[in-house]
Amino acid sequence: MSASVYLDYAATTPVDPRVAEVMSRYLTLEGTFANPASRSHMPGWQAEQAVESARRQVADLIGADPREIVWTSGATEANNLALTGYMRANRARGRHMVTSSIEHKAVIDTAKALETEGFEVSWLAPDADGRISPEALRSVMRDDTVLVSLMAVNNELGSVHDLATLAEVAHAGGAVFHTDAAQATGRIPLDVAAQGIDLMSLSGHKAYGPKGVGALYVKRDPDLRLAALIHGGGHERGMRSGTLPTHQIAGMGEAFALATAEGEQDQARIQALRDRFLAGLDDLEGVHHNTTIDQAVPNILNLAFEGVDGESLLMALRNIALSTGSACNSASVEPSYVLKGIGVPRRLALASLRFSFGRFTTDADIDRTLEALRHALLGLRR
Ligand SMILES: *Cc1c(COP(=O)(O)O)cnc(C)c1O
Repeated sequence: MSASVYLDYAATTPVDPRVAEVMSRYLTLEGTFANPASRSHMPGWQAEQAVESARRQVADLIGADPREIVWTSGATEANNLALTGYMRANRARGRHMVTSSIEHKAVIDTAKALETEGFEVSWLAPDADGRISPEALRSVMRDDTVLVSLMAVNNELGSVHDLATLAEVAHAGGAVFHTDAAQATGRIPLDVAAQGIDLMSLSGHKAYGPKGVGALYVKRDPDLRLAALIHGGGHERGMRSGTLPTHQIAGMGEAFALATAEGEQDQARIQALRDRFLAGLDDLEGVHHNTTIDQAVPNILNLAFEGVDGESLLMALRNIALSTGSACNSASVEPSYVLKGIGVPRRLALASLRFSFGRFTTDADIDRTLEALRHALLGLRR
């Protein structure tokens, strides 16, 4: 059996070998393994230096100041800290926040948890292209709205939000603007100052860095305060305690430096791969685009295949690593809430697959996938 083709970069990316090499310098006795919070010896200072250099690399990708970066265990924790930390710290100012029904679960479930604490959440529905319109946001802003959280790039569809305009609407209504940018780093230009972003969640492993590390950008503003969720040594200016994982952080730093240097070329190359894939699909019947191509990143393509069931199609494509447009519960298969959210009929949502391409995808991968797809559809539709 030949090796499989990996087209699930939106679920996670492999660590870039250049990143893995950097990480390996921060683990063993010969390396910079000391606690970056150890102030009493040289090895500790060296580890601190590595952490601070990575902080600058992460800040540079998004146009932030290094002092605005708070390390976390991933974008999930960054989303929890942004939403819960901000709402709890600003309870006296207002109890209302706005988000959308197509956010990642790390935002949705955090907002639901806040509802049980007495906060109120408005859930915006997307347009058919998988984007929240500024008008929709404007219509739900209230006097007591303190936070708006809308993702930069949707992980299932690839749809890209107009962050600058949405942030403007949030600010006009007296709220701060948070964005989950886990899928955006190295994919679209990000500039927190130009786009008016106050809080931004970042992940290492969606951008060729390691899993288990992420960051929250917190704009430097005396009015922007967060209540910590993890207490303990007062690390990260009291916002997130815990010994910093130097190797993870150095890896995320290197990955983000590569995204700054190569992100644009990566995306141009990936767009050519995506277009090769789309052209190859031309002669296939019954293929629907769930992704609105001209409003999306080129690296994510969500398609529905009429007349088949997504799970069976995935089985028939067992040499291609992909995600379906559905979530398996213990009892049943449910269509993805994101596809449901943009109005994809249940029958098509259950016949949907997400193709996500990345830095190491080749023309040969695309051609093998097309061939496998043609073969599988013929078999299943017969
Ligand atoms: C992957 C992902 C997350 C979660 O990030 P982790 O670093 O794995 O915790 C959050 N939001 C979006 C949009 C994602 O794609």
